[in-house]
Amino acid sequence: MANPPFLIVAIDGGAASGKSSSARLLADRFDLLHVDTGSFYRHITAELLRRGVPSSDLKALQAALAAMQFSTQIEGRSARMLIDGQPAGDEIRSEEVNGHVSHYAAIPEVRQKLLGYQRGLADVARQHRLRGLVMEGRDIGSVIFPDAGCRFFLHADPLERAKRRAAEGRQDSIAERDRLDTSRKTSPLKCPSGAIDIDSTHLTLAQVVEQMSAIIATKLAPA
Ligand code: C5P
Repeated sequence: MANPPFLIVAIDGGAASGKSSSARLLADRFDLLHVDTGSFYRHITAELLRRGVPSSDLKALQAALAAMQFSTQIEGRSARMLIDGQPAGDEIRSEEVNGHVSHYAAIPEVRQKLLGYQRGLADVARQHRLRGLVMEGRDIGSVIFPDAGCRFFLHADPLERAKRRAAEGRQDSIAERDRLDTSRKTSPLKCPSGAIDIDSTHLTLAQVVEQMSAIIATKLAPA
């Protein structure tokens, strides 16, 4: 008997562009594993800060990364990355981590350490008998899964994104993170060629999810 289809959905975009909210809803609608790769970079950042390893000390950073063991915990349809068996804490959304994460994420060794782990989550989704995965980040459709069945790029006016963060009651250095993320040499944030570009500035979350769902449904029926 033929294997059932397995779909990879890649969603990239800048800070507060609506990736997480839409990815979560799509995971529920199509029975996909939801993977928020920003939380992985945040977790590594929090761990390196806790260990006192600055992004400027490449030797110490390489040693710390080499010793880190990643594993995965599935909660509902979400994949959580554990570092040395420990889940991320609330501090990954702190101002301190917001201010440092893009500096660590620009370092090729950090990205390399996460590359294989992120790709391996497709097997985790298969093992959990899910119908695919929806992975959000900055380089998913360009580097991690360039052959993904659906690739989206979300963008929104910076003022609108700042309003969304404020409505969540969170402080975030959106503009500065976008500046660093788009200008770094390794895997910069950009709309990959062939990806579907959605401007969510004047759309509700439900409208964004409907647009994406219509495209995903051409490859996979809703669960
Ligand atoms: O998605 P979120 O805004 O939580 O991501 C936090 C930071 O992690 C980003 O600003 C970026 O520096 C980094 N990141 C990345 N590549 C990804 C996901 C996140 O560089 N795929």
